Amino acid sequence: MSNNLIQLSTGNEFVLESINDGLVVIFSGDLNSDLLEQQIKEYQKNKNLLADLNCSLFFVTNKTEKTEIDNIILDNDFVCYALSPQLRDMNEICESIIFLKKTGAKIEHVYTRLRPKAKYDWMSEVIEFCKNYSNKKSFDNKWKFGQVVLVSGEYLCTNCGYIMDMNQNQLFPVCEVCLSGAPRGACSVREAFWKKLD
Ligand SMILES: [Zn+2]
Repeated sequence: MSNNLIQLSTGNEFVLESINDGLVVIFSGDLNSDLLEQQIKEYQKNKNLLADLNCSLFFVTNKTEKTEIDNIILDNDFVCYALSPQLRDMNEICESIIFLKKTGAKIEHVYTRLRPKAKYDWMSEVIEFCKNYSNKKSFDNKWKFGQVVLVSGEYLCTNCGYIMDMNQNQLFPVCEVCLSGAPRGACSVREAFWKKLD
């Protein structure tokens, strides 16, 4: 196992300083080793597409009884710790993927994907997020998932009409109603769909 592997027992504090600035992706649920391995392989395959934003993966198990596998596991180098025998017997259920953005001591929730299917293409979402993050231009006055909000105010999802209040410096999320901005949402991940209301 890698030296960068950190295991936290349930109830331990999440040490923010130990995480790289950038995108933090947390898979929660009872994940078996096959599913974990798939996700890590997927990441390694696409690592070079993430532009200049770091990405850290976490896998959080939610077993209620206190056991050795009841852990949060972090590996900044993405060494395949999923071979760890403790994870072998777990169910293949991912209950949510939580996307956060960390800058120094600040950690910000971007959005949560609930009950994604095992084949859900989270990597495309992450790649687009990282690409969009450094891009500060609007596209026909519309903004993409992952871009930084430059002006606070109400924004309209031009695909479904949902209106969301956004604050300066937060990140444009996936539309929680029609899932625009996510793979298999109302529009392509690459499309700009948030429009500022006057
Ligand atoms: Zn929408």
